[in-house]
Amino acid sequence: MIDPERAAAQAEEGFARMWAELLPVGRHSRSGGYRRHAWTAADAECRAWFEEQARARGLAYEVDGNGNQWAWSADPAAGGAIVTGSHLDSVPDGGAFDGPLGVVSAFAALDLLRETGAAGSRPLGIVNFGDEEGARFGVACVGSRLMTGVLDADRARALTDDGGMSLAAAMEKAGRDPSALGRDEERLSKIAAFVELHVEQGRNLGDAPIGVASAIWPHGRWRFDFHGQANHAGTTRMEDRRDPMPAFAAAVLDARERALSAGALATFGKVAVEPNGTNAIPSRVTAWLDSRAADPAVLEALVAEITRASGAEVVRESYTPVVDFDGPLRDRLAGLLGGVPVLPTGAGHDAGILASAVPTAMLFVRNPTGVSHSPEEHAERPDCLAGVAALARVLEDLLADPVSPGPAR
Ligand SMILES: [Zn+2]
Repeated sequence: MIDPERAAAQAEEGFARMWAELLPVGRHSRSGGYRRHAWTAADAECRAWFEEQARARGLAYEVDGNGNQWAWSADPAAGGAIVTGSHLDSVPDGGAFDGPLGVVSAFAALDLLRETGAAGSRPLGIVNFGDEEGARFGVACVGSRLMTGVLDADRARALTDDGGMSLAAAMEKAGRDPSALGRDEERLSKIAAFVELHVEQGRNLGDAPIGVASAIWPHGRWRFDFHGQANHAGTTRMEDRRDPMPAFAAAVLDARERALSAGALATFGKVAVEPNGTNAIPSRVTAWLDSRAADPAVLEALVAEITRASGAEVVRESYTPVVDFDGPLRDRLAGLLGGVPVLPTGAGHDAGILASAVPTAMLFVRNPTGVSHSPEEHAERPDCLAGVAALARVLEDLLADPVSPGPAR
């Protein structure tokens, strides 16, 4: 006889234990934020934790050629697998929830399904996508982009971090074989549906602890190089200077004004100055623009205007087109969860990448302050547990009756 209360109490306990285990990993003592960048020691610790969770539950564990970790309840070879999960890496000084909430909830939901006897025999996969945030090599969702072929393997291998180390070398150092990168057709063909649970990164859920994603805004990253001439800050007359810093400053203000009037988002969040000395006029300012909008045409026009006005040399480093999540799947989830809010997001996710290859949906867990990519990111425990219950409900339904593969995506 299944006791749902006992099952819920166990899920809560399991969630708390897993959360406590991950909490100290990669946490910076001064900022309190997380620095779990791809293929670093902190990342390796997170990955060891994932493997441990898989093995402790008797799940089949594997790492694919693109460095993503998988845990399977049954052999996915027969196809029709239902997959859930997220990522464990972080932005610089990120929060505890972005990514890990989806992975921890995935294991907790599986525990709940097993406890209530609802796991079924269809393969359920839990995934930890590698390098989702792109904090180290500059391109986000590397693991899922490689898996779906959206990111070229050669380009990925050649990406470098700020210390000049290539992604290929970093993977090798972490014991992975970078020659295995590339689209994973076989794996994709076995997945009937992917559901990613994620902490909300805004404050759009309001009174609802859970929501379902409708779409992801198109977004991209552009590198702006402002060139000048290094010189002495004390002896070079103001009128003789070729200082790229004022042009950069003007571009920051310009981007803000234009984004405001376009109803879009534009952020210069990363900047590198050469030679970066207090008493030296810079020779170069390199800054990265992150821009997003609901409408791709608006985004394109906005970035073109910012580029033109800046006078900088601009290179687009990454771009993710608008993602409309699978309509029938989205509606099914919203219905199953009793008509929870369905809302778009400006944040990119592995689910947005997977959506180009398999029916994909996302669940959001309420974030009371909306703060994300910051140590202050938070979700209340009852909301997290509501997320686990919702995910379990969704997985149970999909395992019983998977989405039939639609037309070519
Ligand atoms: Zn995330």
